[in-house]
Amino acid sequence: QAKVAGKNCHRFYSRAMDQAVERRVHMEQDLRGAWERGELSLVYQPVYRMSDNRLAGAEALLRWQHPEHGPIAPSVFIDVAEQSGLIETIGPAVLRAACVDAMRWTDEHPGAGELFVSVNVSPRQLRNGDLSEQVAQALADTGLVPERLHVELTETAVIGDEIRASTLLGRLRNTGVKVWLDDFGTGFSGLSHLRRVPIDGVKIDRSFVADVLRDPDDLALTTAIIAMAHSLGITVVAEGVEKEGQYDILRERGCDLAQGYWLGHPMTMRDFMQLLG
Ligand code: C2E
Ligand code: MG
Ligand code: MG
Ligand code: MG
Repeated sequence: QAKVAGKNCHRFYSRAMDQAVERRVHMEQDLRGAWERGELSLVYQPVYRMSDNRLAGAEALLRWQHPEHGPIAPSVFIDVAEQSGLIETIGPAVLRAACVDAMRWTDEHPGAGELFVSVNVSPRQLRNGDLSEQVAQALADTGLVPERLHVELTETAVIGDEIRASTLLGRLRNTGVKVWLDDFGTGFSGLSHLRRVPIDGVKIDRSFVADVLRDPDDLALTTAIIAMAHSLGITVVAEGVEKEGQYDILRERGCDLAQGYWLGHPMTMRDFMQLLG
């Protein structure tokens, strides 16, 4: 009996695996040309300065509206884009589009101030070595001043070959843009890493932010990250702020910027323009 069940189970498992592989292959095919067909778009999540509670900028987040399957989660399709190499064409298009949109924010709402736009780039984009050229090109094409562009990289992108990563990050910063480390605290690099790689800011992962009110360890760690970052001249952003209490305690601990559902959900360019107006 057990043997039969085991056999069935095995068969089911391998079929499920085949399906997963097949889905991935299909997704890769569908993702090819998706930008040109207008299926990919950017939404913007507002980021606020905690010292005066004012809008400081926004993070650009990619969305894929699949013609048959509807919206696909970025955690799923970004991975496919990264593995397949499609990110090498999507990445520069995203950079450029975000710069174009940021130009429009201030052109149409001069009173909004020098809002930044923060763009996620994948480890592969950095490792390929021409990210700084792509960034410079996007700035030159659109006329956006470099100070208004932030590039977000995850810790995994800078782990490993630290010397090479530092060289690439240095080149990136020479274009004048700011470099932020995303999802900070989830990797293995730790605080000592901040000293060795040239970065401008860290984004504290939302898993820490989620527990700052409940778990004293998470609050202690977050407070330590803020203090350490500040001593090195590094800006701190809290992501995933969902409650007023989280905002208040992070503000009290000296966190510089915040984003999260409590402050604003990711929204279309049109809605973001409305927020400015
Ligand atoms: P991320 O860069 O850490 O982006 C923050 C994610 O948290 C976004 O998910 C955002 O919608 C979500 N979020 C924001 N506030 C809250 C909150 O208060 N609570 C909760 N639970 N979630 C919140 P999203 O849009 O699904 O993006 C997921 C990830 O996909 C991003 O994580 C980023 O790593 C990646 N990604 C998105 N757009 C791009 C892109 O253009 N290029 C690359 N390479 N990666 C991207
Ligand atoms: Mg990000
Ligand atoms: Mg993040
Ligand atoms: Mg995160």
